[in-house]
Amino acid sequence: MLIVMKAGATAQDVEEVVRVVSEMGLRAHPLPGASRTAIGITGNTGPVDSVRFESLRGVAEAIRVTKPYKLISLDLKPEKTVVRVGDATIGGDELAIIAGPCAVESREQTFAVAEAVRRSGARFFRGGAFKPRTSPYAFQGLGEEGLQILAEVRERYGLKIVTEAMDERGADLVEQYADVLQIGARNMQNFSLLRRAGRSRLPVLLKRGLSAMLDEWLLAAEYVMAEGNYNVVLCERGVRTFAQHTRNTLDLAAVPAVRRLSHLPVLVDPSHGTGKNYMVTPLARAGVAVGADGLIIEVHDHPERALSDGPQALTLEQYEHLVAEVRAIHEVIAPAPVS
Ligand code: PEP
Ligand code: MN
Repeated sequence: MLIVMKAGATAQDVEEVVRVVSEMGLRAHPLPGASRTAIGITGNTGPVDSVRFESLRGVAEAIRVTKPYKLISLDLKPEKTVVRVGDATIGGDELAIIAGPCAVESREQTFAVAEAVRRSGARFFRGGAFKPRTSPYAFQGLGEEGLQILAEVRERYGLKIVTEAMDERGADLVEQYADVLQIGARNMQNFSLLRRAGRSRLPVLLKRGLSAMLDEWLLAAEYVMAEGNYNVVLCERGVRTFAQHTRNTLDLAAVPAVRRLSHLPVLVDPSHGTGKNYMVTPLARAGVAVGADGLIIEVHDHPERALSDGPQALTLEQYEHLVAEVRAIHEVIAPAPVS
């Protein structure tokens, strides 16, 4: 059930609906929009009786939701969500660029990359302290020490920190040090982690699973939102196919497909989406051209020495060129409003 309030409904009117929903043992999710507030109702397993709401003051209509998701949907919120991270945004007019190494390896390496990321004008710095590696013998990340280095980067350069938590304990730590909590492709359906992220005060960056269909990905976002965290950013990072010329197949059609269903911002990650240095820039251009709200780019000061994902890491110089190119494309497809 979705309750649409009238344009002139007051905060008290919304509160009253929330109260009635709670009284029914259900959960209300008021999401204010540009012209009206809509209230999503979750917790019901069968249909909710709309008559109870239609007579309440300020209610325009109560609509039955037939789709499997409610809160991520454009039905609830027709205008795009802008996720605010301090003074930076994802999903607004600005193209969000999240760049940095795959893994935080050392203070020197992290600072060398962060300096270039800062110089490029990007607002977000990425780097994994907890790395989900295919082999248990591969570099697993520096853990909390890595998070401390990331916190120093934030302090020094004012960049917002995006970093992955692989489990609930990791989420507790990431919350202490970072600005955005990343849930990786391998954990897209780790439902207890999704619920934990839903109780976080941090925005959540949710990567698409390696073989996730669109509905599965959106329902994973729904898990986070159903717990009350409405700041979710989706990220297309490629899926498994028969292709052998890339590490993953970057599904750029996912961007307009998400757009048609959801108000959530969507990013493209051409680094994991291709796995190859020479393909990252062309696919980054394409990602912006197809309408992504931003990009995640892996960058390393010495890609040949990287402890993880070296083959897809851009050099600092390549990264600088990429940013100039994608900004130019973004300017063409989404010109900045004249102020
Ligand atoms: C990463 O961002 O380094 C990462 C591990 O990504 P994914 O979960 O998309 O593989
Ligand atoms: Mn990586």
